[in-house]
Order: sequence, then C-alpha cells, then structure tokens
Amino acid sequence: MADDDDDENDRIILSPKVGKDGLFVEVDDDSPERETVEIHNRERFATHFKYADKLCGLQPTFDEKGDYNCGRCNQADEYECLLVDIPRIDRDAGSCGDWEKIRKGDPELRLEKSDAQKSVTAAGYGVAANGKGFGCHRCPFASRAIRPDSANRDLYCGKGDFRVSGNACCVLNGAPLRKKLYDNPRSRAS
Ligand code: SF4
Ligand code: SF4
Repeated sequence: MADDDDDENDRIILSPKVGKDGLFVEVDDDSPERETVEIHNRERFATHFKYADKLCGLQPTFDEKGDYNCGRCNQADEYECLLVDIPRIDRDAGSCGDWEKIRKGDPELRLEKSDAQKSVTAAGYGVAANGKGFGCHRCPFASRAIRPDSANRDLYCGKGDFRVSGNACCVLNGAPLRKKLYDNPRSRAS
C-alpha cells in the first residue's frame, strides 16, 4: 500500500524560465495544453493573491474599469473604510486587496465596533502615485503577450506565468505608490 507521504510528493512542481529582470519568461505556445497550465496558474493567483478578471476569481472583486479605487468600493463610507483600519482612504487612488464592487444587495458591517478591522499591511493598502488606481494595465510585472489567449487576455503576468486582461488585478500589483498613505490623519471631512 502506498504511503501517504509518497502520495503527497506525487504532484508536479513547475519551474518556468526566469529572465534577468526576475520575472517569468512567456513561452511561445498557443496550444490547449498551454492554456490549461495558465488556467491553473491563474487560479493559483486568484486563491493566494486575490487575482480576478471576467472569468476567474471572485466576481465582486473584479473591476471592469480596471481602476480598483477606494471611491468605487463597497466598503468605502465617505473617507472611512469599513474593513481596513486606516484613518482616511484616498478615494481616487487608494486601494487594497479587498476591493469590491458597489452593490445595493451587499450590506457591510461597522467592524471597528468589534475590533475586527484588517490592518493596512494585512489588506495591502496603498495609494497609486498615478492618482488613478491600479489594474494589470498599470502593473510593471505585465507585458504585452506574444498573442492573446482564447479569452482575449492580451497581457502576460511575469509574476504568475499566465495571460491577464488589462482590467484584471491582484494584490502583488507593482504600480508605484505614494509615500504618504493619507494626508489628513483622523480627519473624516472631505
Ligand atoms: S481600503 Fe480596500 S476595502 Fe477599504 S475602501 Fe479601499 S479598496 Fe475598499
Ligand atoms: S500583472 Fe501585476 S497585478 Fe496583474 S496579476 Fe500579475 S502581478 Fe498581479
């Protein structure tokens, strides 16, 4: 009878080529087998790094506009965040890994009352230096794909080895950040 430890070690560990910039190198392969590998790599990022696009990841966390800015997040209450423990959010260019679409049927909770808010670090909150937001189209780890995949994802993610759409995003987004997280500590006024 096979030993449990042996069974665990039966899975495949992929080691794609890494370039001088430290990012994975896209392979020139348009086959269904390659898309199957990419689907799995993309799902890994959806699970571990909150990646979302129109076909993958948690759909409420996908922003068709590709900005993912706090002002358009279900958890923003004026300049407060109901989820993240931060004195003041930047509604135009702030974001975190917990961004969610605004939906009337998705009520939120005042978590600060139960001392259950996430820290800025745990949420991955940052303010984009571009003043507009995030998305794969603003991430330095994305490059033009050799060719789009069959779902028309036309960028390649060098962090996860799969093709992405410009309006997708994940918490590893490398867009340059402003140094200051907020301008007016503890001020709730606009
Ligand atoms: S900090 Fe995160 S959860 Fe809070 S409003 Fe901004 S994107 Fe939404
Ligand atoms: S391109 Fe950047 S934001 Fe998009 S999945 Fe890759 S690391 Fe994340």
